[in-house]
Amino acid sequence: MDMSEIDYTSVTVDDIYGSNSFNDKSMREWLPKSIYKEVKAVQVGEKDLTLEVAEVVASAMKDWATQKGATHYTHWFQPLTGSTAEKHDSFISPQGDGTVIMEFSGKELIQGEPDASSFPSGGLRATFEARGYTAWDTTSPAFIKEQGGDLTLCIPTAFVSYTGEALDKKVPLLRSAEALSRQAMRVLKVLGNTTTERIVTTAGPEQEYFLINKDYYDERPDLQLTGRTVFGCLPAKGQEMDDHYFGAIKEPVAAFMKELNFELWKLGISAKTQHNEVAPHQFELAPIYAPVSVAVDSNQLVMETMKKVATRHGLEALLHEKPFAGVNGSGKHNNWSIATDDGQNLLEPGDDPRSNARFLLFLSATIKAVDVYAPILRASASNSGNDHRLGANEAPPAIVSIFLGDQLTEIMEAIAAGKPVPSRAGDNMEIGVSTLPKLPMDMTDRNRTSPFAFTGNKFEFRMVASSQSIAGPNVVLNTTVAEVLDGFAERLEKASDVNAEIRKITRETYRTHGKVVFNGNGYTDEWVAEANRRGLPNIPATVYALPEYVKDECVSIFEKHKVLSKTELESRVSIYMEQYAMQINVEAGVMIDMADKLIFPAGSEYAASLAESINSLKAAGVKTSPVAQLEVLEEIVIALNCLKAESNKLKELLETVNAIEEEQARAVAFKEKIVSRMAVLRTCGDNLEPLLSREYWPMPTYEDMLFRM
Ligand code: ADP
Ligand code: MG
Repeated sequence: MDMSEIDYTSVTVDDIYGSNSFNDKSMREWLPKSIYKEVKAVQVGEKDLTLEVAEVVASAMKDWATQKGATHYTHWFQPLTGSTAEKHDSFISPQGDGTVIMEFSGKELIQGEPDASSFPSGGLRATFEARGYTAWDTTSPAFIKEQGGDLTLCIPTAFVSYTGEALDKKVPLLRSAEALSRQAMRVLKVLGNTTTERIVTTAGPEQEYFLINKDYYDERPDLQLTGRTVFGCLPAKGQEMDDHYFGAIKEPVAAFMKELNFELWKLGISAKTQHNEVAPHQFELAPIYAPVSVAVDSNQLVMETMKKVATRHGLEALLHEKPFAGVNGSGKHNNWSIATDDGQNLLEPGDDPRSNARFLLFLSATIKAVDVYAPILRASASNSGNDHRLGANEAPPAIVSIFLGDQLTEIMEAIAAGKPVPSRAGDNMEIGVSTLPKLPMDMTDRNRTSPFAFTGNKFEFRMVASSQSIAGPNVVLNTTVAEVLDGFAERLEKASDVNAEIRKITRETYRTHGKVVFNGNGYTDEWVAEANRRGLPNIPATVYALPEYVKDECVSIFEKHKVLSKTELESRVSIYMEQYAMQINVEAGVMIDMADKLIFPAGSEYAASLAESINSLKAAGVKTSPVAQLEVLEEIVIALNCLKAESNKLKELLETVNAIEEEQARAVAFKEKIVSRMAVLRTCGDNLEPLLSREYWPMPTYEDMLFRM
């Protein structure tokens, strides 16, 4: 169904919510009860999937999908490119008598064999045995994707090599969630919990993005090829203009949001689009949180759907971290928490002494994990686009710190110092015996400059890049917290007095790791100096952050908790380094092209017309010499010379850097040599822009893109 034909007034959310998702509700409707139960057991890891069960599920999925009009299915997976991939196969099975039937077998549901050679493996898989398998991820619901009237049943899958190594972002994510569940369960057991069977990590990523008129996008090769503008300057009045432009959401945006919500609701993704206050034409979408594997899939679908729906409205959705220089960039706030299978949030301060002891323990574990493994967390939020944000005087800094808020910080500091903490009852709090004082749940004035903020019952990891998959950051969070909980569990299991041991752990942890807590303004230079004094790492760019994945501290915990092996980690670093180099290479190439083929000719043309007008003024016998025109002409010529010279220099430098064989060294050279040279070339172009008459400037300007729809 083409959404543009939907009469929204006649459709209710109830009618469509989850209608394209083979979710729990659909499963209960379409599967025999016994099979439904089997699938549920497989989902939580209690049972292995049998081919028998898969046959029944496949058949039901096919019936469900075909009655909605689907003709194809695909194994939908998340290769290390950061996007998603799919290979469509038809349900149609010819019968030899000229007829066809629709078929989908259990084997086709469970396992697929895409051409793995076209996806990056970082050397894990030699090309001659380029086999990779996709395997059904039962934890995330299958869904129907609609594209230009074509309906496809998508099976979320994990992607592994012939020999079982992870080739995607899903495999380590599922492994890390399991690791965290294992360790958290040990802790809960010691605390006397007998009812919980497993732990679920939850994530709710808030997605920031820009919307611009598609006509403008189509005229900008830089946006099309790199996702960001490599030339362009703000109008004299830049972001300050925003009050003026913000008042009401513009008509095309409102229509876009309405349709986007509907499209996502159909997929069972509860999204709430809203206007964002930060930059012109920038918006944010917040979903309801979900178990992490579902949240990762949903976020990929959110990004994809945004792009798709935008074009239907003559718009383009920009997911790049920094589409416009000088304008606030986009991030993704990865809200993260840990809950029991019966719905108790382990990061929620409770009403009774027991849940408070538990809260303090899990809070301490997270604080320690973030402090000890800050460099890996930083690495997990690295890509070329985010280099324009992290540490570049923009939200958030490259230093990983935790915001706890004044009240909780005071409590933790008092615990660490062995000082009395007032309890809710008014007396002194004793962990595991009395209750915490009530924490304010209204977090509206909370610190927005912190990269890792406690917001009442969850943490918000704000470093994450807007275009990236949230899988990586959650893998690191899950794995590092699992490692710390492992240590806590070890101690608690041996302790004769559990409450005393919790007190000790909490006190010691905050004493050692409280240095990562910072409630002040993270954007200031004072914080950079202070963080340095505290010994907190400040890793300024992607190429320096990524190698953290293969340092011993990281490898040992990733291997210990069976999330990724050393080889798998190495292959990832190699792929991400290569991706970084490729991205900068394309950006530099586009810059050179735009400088030579668009900007230089346009500037020359305008200069010629100026010269002509000066000459004709002279010829007409105008007495006073046209000083202003001459001055502008001179400035233009200077800028043009600079542009040409810099474009040539960049070209030469690109050749040298591209000739570097070793991948890591090449990526570093792109960062250290090319990026700064690009900045100089950009300045030449940006100096020229205001000198030319508007009709001569060969592309849409920032003013067009940011202030006109
Ligand atoms: P705000 O960040 O403006 O305070 P909310 O607190 O309502 O907004 O939630 C922000 C995001 O955090 C939403 O996407 C929400 O689903 C998600 N979220 C809320 N609770 C949790 C949780 N326990 N685990 C993971 N994400 C959560
Ligand atoms: Mg937020």
